[in-house]
Amino acid sequence: MLVNIHTHKPLDGELTIRTAGIHPWEAASVPADASAGLDLSDADAIGETGLDFACDVDRNAQESVFRMQLHLAQQAWLPVVIHCVRAFEPVMKILAEYRLPAVIFHGFIGSAEQAQRAVGAGYHLSFGERSFASPKTVEAMKNVPRDRMFFETDESDTPIGSIYETAAQLLKTEVSTLVRNINDNYDNIFGK
Ligand SMILES: [Zn+2]
Repeated sequence: MLVNIHTHKPLDGELTIRTAGIHPWEAASVPADASAGLDLSDADAIGETGLDFACDVDRNAQESVFRMQLHLAQQAWLPVVIHCVRAFEPVMKILAEYRLPAVIFHGFIGSAEQAQRAVGAGYHLSFGERSFASPKTVEAMKNVPRDRMFFETDESDTPIGSIYETAAQLLKTEVSTLVRNINDNYDNIFGK
């Protein structure tokens, strides 16, 4: 089965994860005791959480809701799925303050240098259609070790199979090899 690490439209025949979290877009409209409202009983990971400096949600509110969820993830020992838009530096700085079993940047868009820093910190990067549309991100992806990679459809209707096909072409490898690599990554983090 193909791993689709982040999708808002889950399909049969894909391997994905259940997440519980508060998106940075919602950070200003959550109650003060928001952590109590997060039901983690069924969650494989906390997310999406993070910072989005392209939206106009108050940045202090975003940071406190992000920290609250990282604290929860550390306590519950759950991986986190990160939403990071134009906030790479603050996200990296805040993440470094927590001990987490795994960190996955979903829909990664960024430079080769940013990708290397995330990899160096032990994090995983997930790529999708929007990543492929960014030439610098495609260059960055070529140097990301396979054991730190995931793929996703996010909001897109493009099947996850085509995402793997595009990635395999860009990485000059076989789809089957990529599928094996990514399934291993999934098992390492989420395998029971
Ligand atoms: Zn997102």
